[in-house]
Amino acid sequence: MRAAGLYRQLRSVQGDQGPTLRLDGREVINFSSNNYLGLANHPALAAAAKSAIDRYGCGSGASRLISGNMTLHEELEAKLARFKNTEAALVFNSGFQANIGLLATLAGEGDAILSDALNHASIIDGCRLSKAKTSVYAHCDLDSLETALRQAAAARRRLIVTETIFSMDGDEAPLGEIVELAEKYDAMVMVDEAHGTGVFGANGAGVVAKLGLASRVAIQMGTLGKALGGFGAYVAGSRGLCDLLINRCRSFIFTTSLPPAVMAMALAAIELVQSEPQRRAALQRNCQRLKQGLRGLGFELGESESPILPLIVGDAARCMVLSAALLERGVFAQGIRPPTVPVGTSRLRITSMATHSNDQIHRALNVFEEVKRQWLPTTTS
Ligand SMILES: *Cc1c(COP(=O)(O)O)cnc(C)c1O
Repeated sequence: MRAAGLYRQLRSVQGDQGPTLRLDGREVINFSSNNYLGLANHPALAAAAKSAIDRYGCGSGASRLISGNMTLHEELEAKLARFKNTEAALVFNSGFQANIGLLATLAGEGDAILSDALNHASIIDGCRLSKAKTSVYAHCDLDSLETALRQAAAARRRLIVTETIFSMDGDEAPLGEIVELAEKYDAMVMVDEAHGTGVFGANGAGVVAKLGLASRVAIQMGTLGKALGGFGAYVAGSRGLCDLLINRCRSFIFTTSLPPAVMAMALAAIELVQSEPQRRAALQRNCQRLKQGLRGLGFELGESESPILPLIVGDAARCMVLSAALLERGVFAQGIRPPTVPVGTSRLRITSMATHSNDQIHRALNVFEEVKRQWLPTTTS
């Protein structure tokens, strides 16, 4: 792994998750976080967590179906259902657990899952766990999806699964067209809004809300750990879907429920997302500034219209050299390598935050320029 540039090591963050980080003892500008709205260190979330601890204590003591279903779990699920405009919602301990459990519950032998080629590892593992026949269609390619749907005509049920905003490329799935194909071929649609929630839609509810598709997408999942600044995950959909998961979903049933403080943080975060649209506006402004600046320097950034900008380097070892050169100059942009992304597409994944200042973006662009000249003569367009 070391020889191939694929060896991974943990970095140590001292202090909180802000637009800058104290990383391995040095202050760096943070372009490697999913804390898009700056909520992970927001005082309102901290205050909500503290008062939940005072009132309800620390641990939940058991799984949801034993004695771990507390007032705040129910409050959060009601709030999530309103936020997502669905009949019901169910909290999960993480997005990873939600995806593996959902897919394994909703599809089984005799069923077909149609999965985008760039879907997240947790979706891939969920497909494997389900024992359904999984067809991987070309990334965001409607012809490829339609071919796969035709081939799955004889299956007992068909389930299309896609991210709305792809985690490592930042591009958006053609969800309106996917939903139409699903209706044409009698398939269910499941979306992963890990990177859509909090960022898109008039009230920040995500891409499904932005497109007005809540009634046509059967299963909406997302995480509470990214733009919402806390931890945990949710599934939103019909009451029947949630009841099925409560009865059958092993990653929901067989695990201690999240502590009350975590539920309180999520309640406070949704409140802020809905009442402070200026956070989304600031995020959009910062994304545009960074994107235009990087394009101006000659970097190719793909199709992203989200806070996730992929700067494709190609070779894994070279990507890590570039990331290290940036870090040395105070800019943290994590290199992403296989198996997280396909071989030959190693990249810097550069993410914006609502809380970056103009000065921080300006300083970062100067560093990108310097590093480009020194390390990447071939990427100049
Ligand atoms: C981060 C992520 C997950 C996992 O969510 P966690 O709550 O962090 O476990 C699932 N899907 C996608 C697309 C993600 O980016």
